[in-house]
Amino acid sequence: MSDIGEKCGVFGVYGKGLDVARISFFGLFALQHRGQESSGIATSAGWRIACHKGMGLVSQVFSEDDIKKLTGHIAIGHNRYSTAGGSHVDHAQPTIVGDWSIALVHNGNIPSTVALEEFLRGKDIETDKLSDSRMIAQAIGVFVKEGATIEDAIKKTFPLMTGAFSILVMSKDKLIAIRDECGIRPLSIATLNGGFVLSSETCAFQTVGAEFLRDVNPGEMVVIDANGLRSEQIVKPNPKLDIFEFVYFARPDSHLLGKSVYSVRRNFGVQLAKEYPLRADVVIPVPETGVPVAIGYASESGIPLEMGIAKNRYIHRTFIQPEQHIRDQGVKAKLSPIIETIKGKRVAIVDDSIVRGTTSRKIVEMLFGAGATEVHYLISSPPIMFPDFYGIDTPKQRDLLASDKSIPEMRAYLGATSLNFLSYNGMIKATGISEDKFSTSCFTGEYPIDIKERMKEIVAKKVCYTPFVE
Ligand code: 5GP
Ligand code: MG
Repeated sequence: MSDIGEKCGVFGVYGKGLDVARISFFGLFALQHRGQESSGIATSAGWRIACHKGMGLVSQVFSEDDIKKLTGHIAIGHNRYSTAGGSHVDHAQPTIVGDWSIALVHNGNIPSTVALEEFLRGKDIETDKLSDSRMIAQAIGVFVKEGATIEDAIKKTFPLMTGAFSILVMSKDKLIAIRDECGIRPLSIATLNGGFVLSSETCAFQTVGAEFLRDVNPGEMVVIDANGLRSEQIVKPNPKLDIFEFVYFARPDSHLLGKSVYSVRRNFGVQLAKEYPLRADVVIPVPETGVPVAIGYASESGIPLEMGIAKNRYIHRTFIQPEQHIRDQGVKAKLSPIIETIKGKRVAIVDDSIVRGTTSRKIVEMLFGAGATEVHYLISSPPIMFPDFYGIDTPKQRDLLASDKSIPEMRAYLGATSLNFLSYNGMIKATGISEDKFSTSCFTGEYPIDIKERMKEIVAKKVCYTPFVE
């Protein structure tokens, strides 16, 4: 079970007099991009916890009635997206333990769950069917049952969790946030009408009218209750945000480490133009995440920016299996060419990353099919050669296009005229943040939090991109 990668969004609210369920609904709605498989909200009115969760998008899971039933002054919510392990409502969060006295939501992944499993088995708790998140909740529940306060229970569980976690825990009267020592996944705090809001990304604060206060620090525990907000540093911080949050995952209107995600992505494009000036007639972004990068590339290079690919706005993971004819159409249900901007042109196509290469290959085919004379592929990150263990869910190493191919081999696979990746140094420089503040594991194979026995899944690779030197 521990191999279920979870790239998720978490959201929490504490505030007397606030409609916490409704605020959480809109918060999760703003975090929909972090997970589309299932969604859920738990609330507490001080004496009991209520929860509603289900499969699908936030707007599909909650009706007005569901929201009305979730009363109280504390709430936590979760959006989940998993690709391995199958989708099932059993995996939906919040996860509830301790006779409905504790609810928990988790963004991240614990690569090795051996310590948690051993602990729980020692307490006669069966772990076979439990996800990492559920094991964490169970462990906290055990300590509380043995008489610990919720804060102490979390502190005692901390050493059992080796991995990435941005977690919200709700008891009947407290909202608690914790982040792993590296702060691999983001988590921020805001104020709202005398109360507090917690969110994976700051974009959700704008949606609900909350005012950004600060990030939860790596290794910190923040406790919010009737006495207000207090904080405790549980372990020594070793800040290393996953740089892939800047590259792909976060929404452009969010801020990470105080930097605008949009501005950083635009800088990636400016940097790409410095590293790889092209003779091209038009710069076209792959929607959505390629857009800020393409804007940067076009402005630095002077090559006109055009919309050349339209994205179906309503595309998301569907529970209806497409019939074979539609499946064969592949990416066309999602992306479709605008012939007028492509035909007869030398196209510079800009995207954020290449994972398996399947989509990118179809995009090249689509552009040539629409009459492009040349297709130059530009990527705003270095080749992804190593899998993720901290909650992004990039596939097994052998499925990564860059894991066994050189850049010329990748270019040939895609069928593109040229293929260029932003240099590692160029990517770091464009963030304006120093390298040691990031986890860059998918590019370098250096995992800042011990992945323990999972290390055997990694084949060491010679990093195949040449560093950019000014
Ligand atoms: P590929 O050509 O590797 O099949 O797909 C590349 C596309 O995948 C890029 O447009 C990139 O934005 C997107 N991408 C990168 N990481 C992820 C991820 O974790 N999940 C999903 N669904 N798409 C991703
Ligand atoms: Mg994309």
